[in-house]
Amino acid sequence: MKITFWGSRGSSPVTMNNQGFLKRLDAMYVQAKELGFTTLDAFMKAAHDGSFGYPLVYGGQTPCTEVSAEGRRFFVDMGTGLREAGTRYLKTDDEFNFFMTHMHWDHLMGLPFFLPVFMPGKKIKIHHVHKNAPEFIKIIFNGVNFPVKWADLQAQIEFVEMKLYESVSFGSMSVSPFVLDHPGGAFGYRFEHGGKAAVVGFDGEYLRTTPQELGKDLRFYQNLDLLVFDAQYELSELLHKHDWGHSSAMIGVDLALREGIKKLVLIHHDPWAMEDALAKSLKNAEKYMRRAIKDHRNVWPDPSEGLKIFSAFDGLDLEV
Ligand SMILES: [Zn+2]
Ligand SMILES: [Zn+2]
Repeated sequence: MKITFWGSRGSSPVTMNNQGFLKRLDAMYVQAKELGFTTLDAFMKAAHDGSFGYPLVYGGQTPCTEVSAEGRRFFVDMGTGLREAGTRYLKTDDEFNFFMTHMHWDHLMGLPFFLPVFMPGKKIKIHHVHKNAPEFIKIIFNGVNFPVKWADLQAQIEFVEMKLYESVSFGSMSVSPFVLDHPGGAFGYRFEHGGKAAVVGFDGEYLRTTPQELGKDLRFYQNLDLLVFDAQYELSELLHKHDWGHSSAMIGVDLALREGIKKLVLIHHDPWAMEDALAKSLKNAEKYMRRAIKDHRNVWPDPSEGLKIFSAFDGLDLEV
């Protein structure tokens, strides 16, 4: 399976403005001096090989994650990252499958700019657990929120309600929804293909983390190769952002270490967290993991082969 991140920001799309770009450039310039670079070529080489940190820019599109295998692709959510995905697959794909975690607008905003909706011959299936999803998605196209009305969209769009915890098969790929802790309710999806499993678990506050608390949802985190985890806030922020519906990297690290999850991908980045803050947050999570792994020797007998942690950025591809 390949997981592609078209949008990694939470809540609101962001862009790096001129001031922000100059600040990033200033930081690279300072680093370049420390590294002893004296030529522009050396500076450019370092920018490409990751010497100034990787990625240089996280990007600012809201959530849209693609899971693909054997040439078939599935999307979780329709954040603004979907606009670019639509352009990429416009000529190659005639059928698109979406799985909706919930109806918050950062997860829907990309649909009006997803070009296949305007094209006859394209088939779009929107799979959802929320009973009212069709109503809240169609409302975007009421002629007031967006100029094009639902009835005027040219693609054939179908809503497919999924039953919680029940898997649906698409060839050799199976997809099953489970519960996340989020205001108004949200559902994560577990994708299984060729003996590998990946979970897209946003938006979630992870108020329940122990096996007892997770109950029926526990098995979705077991025998898992990759977990995409809502890590919008720093741990210290959770105290005053309780019940806001988002979690923190270290909670994901604890869960992943306990369940033996091999790759953890932090996502739904706070729109106020710029590149330096996100890079620092990843470093802190890795540092915490190296300390905490010792408490899970039964799961990780060789701590040097520890959990791999990634911080999602727009354009990141991962394989499982
Ligand atoms: Zn969100
Ligand atoms: Zn949300």
